[in-house]
Amino acid sequence: MSSTYNQLLDATIQHLEDLKSRGVRHVAVSPETLRALAKSPAGGSQTANFKSPAPEAPASGPARMEFPEGSGSETGAPQPVAEQPSLLALPGETVQSPLLDPQAKAAAFAALRERALACVKCPHLASSRKNVVFGVGSIDAQLMFVGEAPGADEDERAEPFVGKAGQLLTKIIQATGLQRADVYIGNILKCRPDTPGQSAGNRKPTADEMATCIPYLHEQIDLIRPKVIVALGATAVEGLLGKTIGITKLRGTWKTYRGIPLMPTYHPAYLLRNQAMSEKRKVWEDMLAVMEKLGMSITEKQRNYFLKA
Ligand code: URA
Repeated sequence: MSSTYNQLLDATIQHLEDLKSRGVRHVAVSPETLRALAKSPAGGSQTANFKSPAPEAPASGPARMEFPEGSGSETGAPQPVAEQPSLLALPGETVQSPLLDPQAKAAAFAALRERALACVKCPHLASSRKNVVFGVGSIDAQLMFVGEAPGADEDERAEPFVGKAGQLLTKIIQATGLQRADVYIGNILKCRPDTPGQSAGNRKPTADEMATCIPYLHEQIDLIRPKVIVALGATAVEGLLGKTIGITKLRGTWKTYRGIPLMPTYHPAYLLRNQAMSEKRKVWEDMLAVMEKLGMSITEKQRNYFLKA
């Protein structure tokens, strides 16, 4: 057997053992992979158990702000897009981890949440936080939003994006025809960055804090398997892609996070600071691109939001 093959085999076994330790009992393997395995020096094949994702979660109540409330479709939910192939993730491949059946997925997500809620890896944040802000929304969401870190409101209510910027994000989501409960919303950091000596305000997470916390987000994304991720602001892009390029340059250009299309756009807090119609239009154009990628229908009215008359 070649050493490359041995390395891949070791990595595969390690990956499967990791999955097993997380409660996974079946993995989905593509026909191509099975054929490749059968042809391999070791030969043989595996039993595959394919599972479909669970249906969308029901919609929740609206919140109102400045973004228009539109609906791209009757249901508001994205049209189904082609199922992505489920492959065993080998080093260097940009594929997602195997589909879990709904119960295993919910259990793995609940276990992850428990771990995050008990986390004290950043002692200064653990001692200053009121709550760990794990994330909110449907674990079967096709669309996931990732922000920076909880602020004071989020820390208080243990839910991301519930303050002023969050209300604007809700408005943006609703303008696509979706509700908050249709999508998943998370942050790079699960704890509010502390602000010693200050009673108010937020600060950017440090590189250490981000590196410590990001594995939770990676696991959330692995389990949710969204079809599209929207990264809100430069810190979200930096956390997910490791890029420190300015968001002005990055926004509106498709990137890829481990095989998942990722759209960088401005953080809603920026739109609160800069009320120019042109900036709102940029975010809206990014959302139109996201809607297209998800196969959602877009009305003429939606296409024209924030265009000058
Ligand atoms: N800003 C963020 O980036 N995340 C939140 O949850 C709230 C505000």
